[in-house]
Amino acid sequence: MHPTEAFIPYGRQAISDDDVAAVVAVLQSDWLTQGPAIERFEAALKDATGAAHAIAVCNATAALHIACLALGAGPGDTVWTSPNSFVASSNCALYCGARVDFVDIDPVSLNMSVSKLAGKLEAAKRDGTLPKIVIPVHFAGEPADMAEIGALAKQYGFRVIEDASHAIGGSYGAKMIGACEHSDIAVFSFHPVKIVTTAEGGATMTNDPDLAATLARLRTHGITRNAAEMSGESEGAWYYQQIDLGLNYRMTDMQAALGASQMDRLAEFIDRRHCIADRYDTGLAGLPLRTPVRAPGRRSGLHLYPVQLDDASRRKAVFDGMRAAAIGVNIHYIPIHTQPFYLQQGFRPGDFPAAEDYYARALSLPMFPTLTDADQDRVIATLADLLA
Ligand SMILES: *Cc1c(COP(=O)(O)O)cnc(C)c1O
Repeated sequence: MHPTEAFIPYGRQAISDDDVAAVVAVLQSDWLTQGPAIERFEAALKDATGAAHAIAVCNATAALHIACLALGAGPGDTVWTSPNSFVASSNCALYCGARVDFVDIDPVSLNMSVSKLAGKLEAAKRDGTLPKIVIPVHFAGEPADMAEIGALAKQYGFRVIEDASHAIGGSYGAKMIGACEHSDIAVFSFHPVKIVTTAEGGATMTNDPDLAATLARLRTHGITRNAAEMSGESEGAWYYQQIDLGLNYRMTDMQAALGASQMDRLAEFIDRRHCIADRYDTGLAGLPLRTPVRAPGRRSGLHLYPVQLDDASRRKAVFDGMRAAAIGVNIHYIPIHTQPFYLQQGFRPGDFPAAEDYYARALSLPMFPTLTDADQDRVIATLADLLA
């Protein structure tokens, strides 16, 4: 370690005095959970994305779970996602009793490959094993090929959940990520390393009013207080009915107040992340590595800045060297299908070679809005030394 150098994490939250005041105000109010701050936060999410409905929940894993439930995933169904993601992207299907399979990534975008998806769908159609739901992941914030995936969804009759945990504030064509132009539901995460934080938190976005009502019920035990959703008559003002098997996935008002306050700075956060990425692109040019692609016509949320070393055999030494220099590099992601739990489900190393090859070269560099130029220069110089 270099004891004089402060540790630079790969990601961290940016909390302002206004954020702190917003949380304290809730603590001094009448509502600590599922009160007016939830409505404020959900309104901010709808404003920022253009989606008609937002349902805030306790984390993105819960959001993915109720998204799968709302779209009817259950035993006998299959859900496909990207192996280059956090395990929550596929675990959500297993929670519903559905089966999971993966579609390998495109080696340039690092997102689900549309050509591999199309080929796998054609084979599944022949076998009668078409998926019920496909979950593309906007890896590192770079939007997946949503128009093409949406067209395949119409052709083959599956539903689409965007795992947009990395991508709030990004855009695809004329629409913001979360607008659900080519999907049924989009999911955000508000974990502290993500773009906007509520400590723990997530949300589901949708334009479908029936799906929104179902998601809102599933967030709170499957209970409704809306007479229009009940069977029979309401018995009075106290009356509620449980009409689905839901969960308690509510977000607290303290968290929602933090989120609503953070949303005021979303555009600022994304601009700053792009400045940092531009500086990395320039500062790392000429090193034996590839920097992340930002495709035209879409804007990344830039949750992560993952580089790929040309020489995978040096990755461990470079990772260890960066950590020894107090630089919190990380690796995103160990391909989900290679996890021991997924090997028990029958997956094998080699099943999704593009995701595995990417993983062997991957190194996520520090990327967060309060990263200083001086700290970023130290990251670049240390990496250059280690690769020299
Ligand atoms: C962080 C993350 C999740 C899970 O988010 P939580 O809010 O921590 O539950 C799901 N998918 C992806 C791609 C993520 O990065």
